[in-house]
Amino acid sequence: MIEILVNLGPRSYPILIGAGALAAVGPELVKRKVGRKVVLVTDAGVARLHGGEVVRSLGHAGFDTVQVPVPEGEEAKRLDIAATLWERLLDAGCDRTSTVVALGGGAIGDVAGFVAATYMRGMNFVQVPTTLLAQVDASIGGKTAIDHPRGKNLIGAFHQPRAVIVDPAVLTTLSDREFRSGLAEVIKHGIVLDADYFQDLESNVPSLLTRDLAILERIVVGSCQLKARVVEHDEHDAELRWVLNYGHTIGHALEAATGFRRWVHGEAVSLGVVAESRLAERLEICSPATANRQLRLLAAVGLPVTGLHVEPASVIDALSRDKKTRDGRTSFVLAPEIGSFRIVPDVPSDAILEILKELR
Ligand code: NAD
Repeated sequence: MIEILVNLGPRSYPILIGAGALAAVGPELVKRKVGRKVVLVTDAGVARLHGGEVVRSLGHAGFDTVQVPVPEGEEAKRLDIAATLWERLLDAGCDRTSTVVALGGGAIGDVAGFVAATYMRGMNFVQVPTTLLAQVDASIGGKTAIDHPRGKNLIGAFHQPRAVIVDPAVLTTLSDREFRSGLAEVIKHGIVLDADYFQDLESNVPSLLTRDLAILERIVVGSCQLKARVVEHDEHDAELRWVLNYGHTIGHALEAATGFRRWVHGEAVSLGVVAESRLAERLEICSPATANRQLRLLAAVGLPVTGLHVEPASVIDALSRDKKTRDGRTSFVLAPEIGSFRIVPDVPSDAILEILKELR
């Protein structure tokens, strides 16, 4: 197994990556000298596909495991679900040495992490991400959250996991749409952080799409390394982590303006990357060739790059609630070249409006 250390002093932890890693969950917990009780949080679909392997591994390693099902996707990130999880932890007699294991996509990682952060002021937490997005992004960095009726991720805490255990082989059971959605984050990492990584993606589109295990493992390792370095430099999301917002400023606004129903997250990010690369071009921060290269790779993996049929004014309205917007001017992370980024403060909404109109 490949090990990447996320170096955060006393809160450091490894990301362990390899086909068959699910069977290592029990032995890895033993190494961390945690208590005997484990609560495994997962949804019915993921439990059916991959839960058995994890439960067996925990059982063989001598853990007393309770499995708690939660709804699929964003529905898991509700206060009543968190409350049910707290109840189950109490019922199982968990203490601060016990461990919550999140097996699933980013939504399960977020709610399970939030519960682990708050139960008795913090207990052990282990991430076993099963979507591409969760493997390369959501499981690393300790951001946990539930949603509030007035907005996504409004209630949360920073709580680093003790380990992130990643089995790229589980990505073969993911739907095409969810898999492509994760590729948007992978491509984003290349655009703003690593030109060689981006080029590797460009050269391997067919094997990426057939989910060849060797390439899956390589891209997951590459993205985890990139994300780990960003988190190490900015554990609490102060500024450097903004780099990971590339494509997300407009992407989030598109999701919000369409009630989070039209696109899955990565599709909105793809359109956000297209819009933000055009914005960089308009502001003469990048060349047309640099913008076109991004669009070509997104399109090649089947992500949307056209079809931005949203009323521009509603997108601007959603942008006004972005935490990077002040007095109608928004800060953007833009890519001057593939593999680099620049934070551009105070982009006027007129410039954004023009781009949105152009892309309609
Ligand atoms: P998701 O968690 O909503 O899961 C999507 C679907 O995939 C679910 O229906 C799930 O059952 C299914 N699934 C999961 N693994 C599978 C597998 N191996 N095979 C078949 N089906 C599988 O989606 P996601 O994209 O992983 O996560 C999105 C969530 O992550 C959002 O709530 C977002 O806010 C959060 N997020 C958090 C961070 C962070 O830093 N904490 C970062 C990015 C995103």
